[in-house]
Amino acid sequence: MHDTTFDILILGGGEAARCAAEAARAAAPDVTIAIVGEEPWLPYDRPPLSKAVLVDPAQVATCEKRDAAFYAAQRIDLILGQRAASIDVERHSFDLHGGQRLAWRRLILATGSRPRQLPVPADLTPDVYYLRTRDDSERLGAALRRGGRIGIIGAGFIGLEVAAAARTLGCSVTVLERAESVLARVLPAFIARDIEAVHVRRGISFRKGVAVEITGRDQSGAIAISTTDFANSTRTVESFDTLLVGIGVLPNVELAIAAGIETSDGIVVDASGRTSVPNVFAAGEVTCHPVAGGLRRARYEAWQVAQQQAAAVGSTAAGVDSEYKELPWFWSDQHDLNIQMLGQAPVNAVWVFRGDRSAPKVAAFALDTDGIVQAAVALNAGRDIAGARRLIASRKIVDPLRLADPLCRWNVLLTE
Ligand code: NAP
Repeated sequence: MHDTTFDILILGGGEAARCAAEAARAAAPDVTIAIVGEEPWLPYDRPPLSKAVLVDPAQVATCEKRDAAFYAAQRIDLILGQRAASIDVERHSFDLHGGQRLAWRRLILATGSRPRQLPVPADLTPDVYYLRTRDDSERLGAALRRGGRIGIIGAGFIGLEVAAAARTLGCSVTVLERAESVLARVLPAFIARDIEAVHVRRGISFRKGVAVEITGRDQSGAIAISTTDFANSTRTVESFDTLLVGIGVLPNVELAIAAGIETSDGIVVDASGRTSVPNVFAAGEVTCHPVAGGLRRARYEAWQVAQQQAAAVGSTAAGVDSEYKELPWFWSDQHDLNIQMLGQAPVNAVWVFRGDRSAPKVAAFALDTDGIVQAAVALNAGRDIAGARRLIASRKIVDPLRLADPLCRWNVLLTE
């Protein structure tokens, strides 16, 4: 069989693939580059899928950052609607399910993640939704725009962003969460409570600390859910017209594992995206990469990783070494609430508040035992995240009283 060989072959067709490809092109004008994507779409950005696109399907146009003419002009080949069957790291090639063989000088795995699934009785499948792709968002949006009772399993980012969109569309919304707190994986409980309060004020109901089972259809044909309260074993049965499951993601590491590439909750890479196999790189949220300012590695499900880590990888793969050194950062928009988190809070952090928690328009800063700011969370206070970024970088010991005083300006805090 005749192999088609690319200098840089990117497996995966999302935002990380796009950013890696563009950085590779910027680093090396003459290399050949191709993106192999499973979906038929041009690479697209996901943040609007759980927000604006649900409310207004026309917003899907905002997800494509580049059009086909851009990829053609940049000489980035797009091989779409294709999956790799397996990867042969000895031969530097993989076969597509359609039979074509592609070979590389440098391979970048940007295979992303997929939603974790719950057991669902087969006849309920059409009314139970997951949200990952553009098609998922368009299907879910159509269901939400029909209105009715929406059940959401999981109070993570997907669950809360969809809850906000569903309320905007006038649905009755109930969020069911196993943990005792919303966003428990990423935020301290006190901030999570403030966020939950915003949702409750908008009419969203929460049932936390419950085990959820999707049981079947009730007599009216709606989806029947059974929840068991962990605290008192009380069992409740309730019905929904539409159900969204947003209980986290699993990294798509199977091809890498089968190829003998080291994984550990993600593909293990260095700061430039090199895997354990020479000439094979990995980019985006499938990676377990070194965390800025620390010795450990972690897998971050964040847009910043898809963009900036992937850009560092694309550049390095094209011959211009680059390292990803950004502090972890993410943001979410829910109702009129903008949430941002920067850095990593130490377990024994002392939290200092700046602003008004009841509004909410507040930032919380995590100080380590030396009094140095290591992380910050902001609710409708993005400017304080910009200040926190400079404070974290400065490693200054701050006076907590001055930090808590909103009248004490950032340039004073940073210089005094
Ligand atoms: P997530 O943020 O991990 O939240 C999932 C939540 O569901 C967790 O609180 C989880 O608790 C809970 N859960 C797990 N199993 C459950 C069960 N059987 N019953 C009830 N609750 C259960 O994941 P997600 O919200 O599904 O988001 C998926 C991905 O999209 C993530 O990568 C996320 O970062 C990304 N995303 C990001 C943004 C943003 O940054 N703005 C927006 C949307 C999506 P446990 O932790 O105990 O499992």
